Amino acid sequence: TPKNKVCILGSGNWGSTAARIIGSNVAKLPAFDNDVKIWVYEEMVDGKKLTDIINTQHENVNSGQGKYFTDTSAHLSTPKTLLAIFDRYLPGHKLPENVIAVPDAAEAVKGATHIIVVIPHQFIQNLLNTIHGHTLPNARAISLIKGIGISNQGMTTMTQIIHRTLAIPVSCLSGANIANEIAEEKYCETTIGCSDPDEAIIWRSLFNKPYFQVNCVSDVIGVEFCGALKNIVAVGAGFIDGLGLGNNTKAAIIRIGFLEMRRLAMHISGAQIQESTFNESCGIADVITTCYGGRNRLLAEAFVKTGKPMHQLEQEMLNGQKLQGYLTAGEVFSYIDGCGVTDHFPLFTNIYQICYENRSPRSIFDGLNVDFSQD
Ligand code: NAD
Ligand code: 13P
Repeated sequence: TPKNKVCILGSGNWGSTAARIIGSNVAKLPAFDNDVKIWVYEEMVDGKKLTDIINTQHENVNSGQGKYFTDTSAHLSTPKTLLAIFDRYLPGHKLPENVIAVPDAAEAVKGATHIIVVIPHQFIQNLLNTIHGHTLPNARAISLIKGIGISNQGMTTMTQIIHRTLAIPVSCLSGANIANEIAEEKYCETTIGCSDPDEAIIWRSLFNKPYFQVNCVSDVIGVEFCGALKNIVAVGAGFIDGLGLGNNTKAAIIRIGFLEMRRLAMHISGAQIQESTFNESCGIADVITTCYGGRNRLLAEAFVKTGKPMHQLEQEMLNGQKLQGYLTAGEVFSYIDGCGVTDHFPLFTNIYQICYENRSPRSIFDGLNVDFSQD
């Protein structure tokens, strides 16, 4: 029988980290081809193509213009750290040699039975249009993306968007997973949402490592909502850090944010979601780690301290890496506003208005005394 083939679509900070895991795991799985193609959004680095750099140096590293700044839990207290610049995309960590960079996404998915999608959510539809018609009919995909989409039918998750375009089964992986810490092989957990138990075993075999403990659940949409919505909470946590408030204040934002996440997920897809999903790594654990150590938190702190808009800070500080939280705050607000339920989500509403409508960061506390006891 022909061997299964993995393709990874996306080579950012998390995509590159996932490639380290997958490249090493497929080499030990007899049912899988040894080669893993990774689609790289092509860029020129010091006059060389990034794909060529990856295929010769086996590292996803740029010209070193950045400061190799990766400590997203640091506080931006001095002018020096306020100018923190990231390095794209995973400097200092070798990729396995069986991971082969390809600049053409349609070429990368050719013959792939297992497609891992790991790009910032704002680029998903373009990528899907490029690969549409090039995937195998018996392929399956897993989304590592944390974000949601808005259409005139309402809110759509990334697995729904991928399934709609490619007509293949789509699972989801999400957890308390700051990529740089995983690249350093520091122990953590993650959650795979997969509705087919046999498929779940295969996805687990591709991702599980002694330092990356995968737990599988059947609730795909619940896992996805957790991953997308916690990025809004992380923006709120960053505002608290920017205001110089303390741990108790941040804990209050985390608690209320977690309850609004659950309320919104239930509002949209209540019948499909299992309450227990919120107890997995993708739920409470991811809210905590992102509110202390994520890029969304760091740049929200910088937003308060510099007064610069999020998109400008993303350009100035992240050096090609992307934020999901402030975009998700906008997408979620347009949904809850359209449904006339903003008063049920005061924290999400305040975070949106602080990001986009010039409200003062201190207004984050307005109207937070909501009763969640009946949820
Ligand atoms: P990143 O933010 O580090 O890098 C951005 C990526 O987008 C780069 O690969 C860049 O080449 C690519 N890109 C830029 N313009 C593009 C375009 N027009 N079309 C397509 N691609 C383009 O990426 P990441 O951290 O791997 O994030 C991917 C997803 O993974 C996000 O949804 C993120 O929330 C999620 N995630 C990230 C982490 C983390 O710690 N980095 C952890 C878990 C989940
Ligand atoms: P940031 O995008 O805020 O860095 O969050 C990464 C993440 O999703 C950790 O689980």
